[in-house]
Amino acid sequence: FKVRMDDLVSLCKRRGFIFQTSEIYGGLNGFWDYGPLGVQLKRNIKSAWWRAMTQCRDDIVGLDSSIIMHPRTWEASGHTNNFKDPMCDCRETKARYRADQVRVLRPKDDGEGLIFAFMENDRGPAEKKIRKLGSGDASNYEDLPLPEIALEDYPRIVGPDTRTPGTLTEPRAFNLMFKTYVGPVEDHSAVAYLRPETAQGIFSQFANVTSVSRQKLPFGIAQIGKAFRNEITPRNYTFRSREFEQMELEFFIRPGEDASWHDYWVEERIRWYGTVGLPEGRMHREIHGEDELAHYASACTDIVFDFPFGTQELEGIAARGDYDLKQHQTFSGKSMEYFDQENNERFLPHVIEPSAGVDRIALALLCEAYRMEWIPKDGGEAVTADPDQKRPPEGFEQRTVMRVAPCVAPYKVAVFPLLKNKEPLVDKARAIYGALSRRWMSFYDETGAIGRRYRRQDEIGTPLCVTVDFDTLDDDTVTVRDRDSMKQIRIPVAELEAYVADQVEF
Ligand code: ATP
Repeated sequence: FKVRMDDLVSLCKRRGFIFQTSEIYGGLNGFWDYGPLGVQLKRNIKSAWWRAMTQCRDDIVGLDSSIIMHPRTWEASGHTNNFKDPMCDCRETKARYRADQVRVLRPKDDGEGLIFAFMENDRGPAEKKIRKLGSGDASNYEDLPLPEIALEDYPRIVGPDTRTPGTLTEPRAFNLMFKTYVGPVEDHSAVAYLRPETAQGIFSQFANVTSVSRQKLPFGIAQIGKAFRNEITPRNYTFRSREFEQMELEFFIRPGEDASWHDYWVEERIRWYGTVGLPEGRMHREIHGEDELAHYASACTDIVFDFPFGTQELEGIAARGDYDLKQHQTFSGKSMEYFDQENNERFLPHVIEPSAGVDRIALALLCEAYRMEWIPKDGGEAVTADPDQKRPPEGFEQRTVMRVAPCVAPYKVAVFPLLKNKEPLVDKARAIYGALSRRWMSFYDETGAIGRRYRRQDEIGTPLCVTVDFDTLDDDTVTVRDRDSMKQIRIPVAELEAYVADQVEF
């Protein structure tokens, strides 16, 4: 993979995409803040989704439901009982691990000692550990599923971070919902939860939304909002966080049409990822087998992306039948049925649920867009730099560039006066910036050499830079420089807005 996570993480901090939350207090694991650029990136992702889901379609309406809902909601949805991950603790280090991310390896030749490794991602860490222990090749080991390890073997497991034997508790279930209390009394009756998904807000408002929007089946309700999960091991930067944002659609259909609408939404979502700059080649469909499906689901496909730390889920698209509406009908005693005027019948619609994470998409876009490039000083095409080589070869200079699609780029255009101490240039550049910024997020910069200013915009993904120079004062034209090709063209100021629109709008 062309991106090293360390390089990306450091750029995100340096330029203001992502900060550790509460950094001044040492941070809080699993929580992140988005800086001036990150907030724009996320807003643009959400706008692109909202536009595709609601504005460009007449069969989907929006909703913004509350984060804390009646606690019965989570009994009905099954989260109170079932939203659990298996967890085990290391007795030595006190560290906690999601049991399904622990690998225990046994030498195939009956040799002594088991190797215990916490799986950050894929298969890497366990194999590294084997090498570190000098025990040869990973193929000499076999995996032992945790529950199958005899308790007497536990003391011999090699601890996660040391060569010393560690001990693991047996896996136990841990509910991922954050608990809180509503009102001043902290007793059982005041317990409430931060929502672990936005979807249940949609199901519980199904009857209200249907009656006010006068939609007929098939139709959908879309929502974007925060969700919270007390993940046992947040990891891979923002990929698995404890607070994150979801974009969820519940698309209600007639029973029996589940398979075709499920296929439709998988393809529709893949197409959408293309519009924000995630290419088909790095996206895959992971189809859940019969034995992996929840009992009520008839199909589930994950859309996964090749991250530098492994291929991981961006979105799940599930055909959930009438499970959710039926549960809420049972638990609330209120009808969730749809009245079909044509056939004069009432029934519970089925639903297809495409559920995506904003933060994971933002991270995928950053991984996809980030490039270190070497540019021939005598002109010519840029080449991707070798991340192991600190300096570019003779005759080349290095640039970091975020090749993000214009529709999600934090800033669409930057405007520079050639010199900051020449009033007519500054006035003209300010006027152009003023006009463009009414329509797009634009950046004004007058400090440093022009080349340096281009590089700063390259690093934050701004697709176009406009430079006002002395010729502008004579003929009212400006230079427009393209981020990806680094080519420059000269165009009249009067045509600038139309040109920018053509380049950055979708
Ligand atoms: P995973 O298997 O990775 O835990 P999931 O299958 O539990 O994810 P869903 O419950 O289907 O996830 O949630 C829908 C989407 O919400 C996911 O595809 C993902 O984009 C996002 N999401 C879920 N959990 C997190 C998290 N802890 N941090 C960031 N995004 C998340």
